[in-house]
Amino acid sequence: MHILIIEDDRAIATNLYDFLESRGHSVDAAADGVTGLHLAITQPFDGILLDIGLPGMDGITLCRKLRREAHLDTPVLMLTARDMLEDKLKGFESGADDYLVKPFALKEVEARLVAMHKRHSGKVISRILESGDLSFDPKTMSVNFAGEGVKLPPKCIRLLALMLGEPGRVFSRKELESGVWGGVQETSDTLRSHMHELRRALLRAGSYDPIETVHGLGYRLNTRARV
Ligand code: CA
Repeated sequence: MHILIIEDDRAIATNLYDFLESRGHSVDAAADGVTGLHLAITQPFDGILLDIGLPGMDGITLCRKLRREAHLDTPVLMLTARDMLEDKLKGFESGADDYLVKPFALKEVEARLVAMHKRHSGKVISRILESGDLSFDPKTMSVNFAGEGVKLPPKCIRLLALMLGEPGRVFSRKELESGVWGGVQETSDTLRSHMHELRRALLRAGSYDPIETVHGLGYRLNTRARV
């Protein structure tokens, strides 16, 4: 499995990292919430270990953003030092799949990650995002437009997946930036250049551009019916 650890306690993070790697998983780690969210959004993971108390952005907020703004359902196992019902409820309400209280046994962490991954893999198959002649399969990260496969860099795929979540709705720049990069970008050029690249690739594949610029508001996806 490809696992992301978001934990600011160095000793705990190192323990988790070494154990999971020794068990054959590929592991990435972040020590603060902002970096963690960025990684979680820009790379495909099979599971995320998420501490609640984090610098930059706490785990509850991070999980909420991952689910509601980035529309990602990567399985999240929350880790916390506190065994408080309130924390537990907040964790689940923010979209976490499971919960472990520190100190925990490393073997239990792995067992829960594997169980979450199995449940999730069963669900993902039906979760192809589709609108008219445009579709995105999150399992293979492949985009298909007007019968053609479209090769896109990961950030362009994220942009497209966000809009495919709600075709026809206008997405503001802020929403798209937050959903793809985990925060609002300092200059508007990053979003603009990725949007440009995405639209050009779609136009090449499908002979029309399904993304409309709604002046002063943002962008909207308008696909044609599949023929
Ligand atoms: Ca912490």
